[in-house]
Parts: sequence; C-alpha cells; structure tokens
Amino acid sequence: MMEPNLTITSPSQLAEAVLSESGQNVNLCYQCRKCAAGCPISYAMDYKPAQLIHAIRLGMDDLVLNSNTMWLCASCETCTTRCPQEVDVAKVMDAVKITALRRGIKPAIPQVASFYRAALANIKKCGRMYELGMIVGLKMRTFEFFKDAGMGMKMFSKGKLKMVPSFTGALRTWHIFSRVKNIEKKNAAHNAK
Ligand code: SF4
Ligand code: SF4
Repeated sequence: MMEPNLTITSPSQLAEAVLSESGQNVNLCYQCRKCAAGCPISYAMDYKPAQLIHAIRLGMDDLVLNSNTMWLCASCETCTTRCPQEVDVAKVMDAVKITALRRGIKPAIPQVASFYRAALANIKKCGRMYELGMIVGLKMRTFEFFKDAGMGMKMFSKGKLKMVPSFTGALRTWHIFSRVKNIEKKNAAHNAK
C-alpha cells in the first residue's frame, strides 16, 4: 500500500466537502467508536470508520481520499444506526467516494468504482438493473473477462440472467438522471462563485 502523505491541511476543508455532498457534520463525532465496532467490513479496512471520520475532521485529505475504507463500505448502515450523535456514517462514506472522484484520485479499489459506473450506466439505459448488460459493462471496464464465469453460467442456467432487458420505467429513470444532472450543474455553478 502507498504510504499516505500525512500533511494536515485546513481542518475544515474536507469536512466542508463532506457536509456539502451529504449534509453530514462529522464535527459532531465524539469518537465513541460504536460505528467501527459494528462495521462488518472493518477488519479489511485500512482505517476503521471512526478513524476515517476523525481524519476528515483533521483535514487529512491524502490519507482519507487514498484510503480503501469507503470503497470497501457495503452501505449496510449499521454504523449509521449505532451512532449516538446521529452522524450518518454510510452517507459520509459516499461523500468521501464522490470527493475522491471529483478530485481525480484513483480509487484504492478500482473494481468497486467500475461496478458503480457499470451499474449506473445500465440503469440509465434500461430503466432498472439489467444484470447481463451490467456484467458485460463491468467486464469491459475491468478487463477481467473470465472472473466469476462459473457463477455466471450457473445463474444463467437457473434463469437468473435474462437475455433481453425489459425497459420498464426507462423514461421515468431518464427524467431522474436529467434532474440530478441539472442539480449538479447548479451546485457546480454556485460553488464556482
Ligand atoms: S455502512 Fe459501511 S462503514 Fe458503515 S457499518 Fe456498513 S460497511 Fe461499515
Ligand atoms: S458512532 Fe458516531 S460519534 Fe461514535 S465514533 Fe462513530 S461517528 Fe463518531
């Protein structure tokens, strides 16, 4: 693993970015570590959820944004439900991922970012998840063409992977994506002022 640059920048810059992306104020955290204690993935994270929150508060941008923590997060929301300060830690994880991508930082686990991109592109096109299309999109992004091929064949043989997408609700989904794009444009214009 690359050694993180431990330079501490402005204590609030990264916390402000998280607040603006997710509405979550990490400065409410008093380091009880209940979030980390309940996280089912924390054993594999380079920094536990409570440590990541603390590093965000300290403005340790490089450490936080190059961490694998948010990319391993399964969005199970155990941390969110356990936090006595009502910090939605799962939302913070999402905000950190978004901030890392906005700043052009390569994800510590690129396959996860590829999965998100493939899934979103698929939902945008088909209106809902079309698994076979998503798998093809993911393979094209990761070049891991034969990974999990056995499982894919099993799913296909049990009728779990449909050959043709249904396109049900595609128009409604397209409108949702358009609205989000417009909101993001407005926010970007507002932030640029
Ligand atoms: S949402 Fe993420 S960080 Fe929180 S408990 Fe679940 S896996 Fe861990
Ligand atoms: S549970 Fe909440 S207050 Fe406790 S360490 Fe985690 S984020 Fe901070």
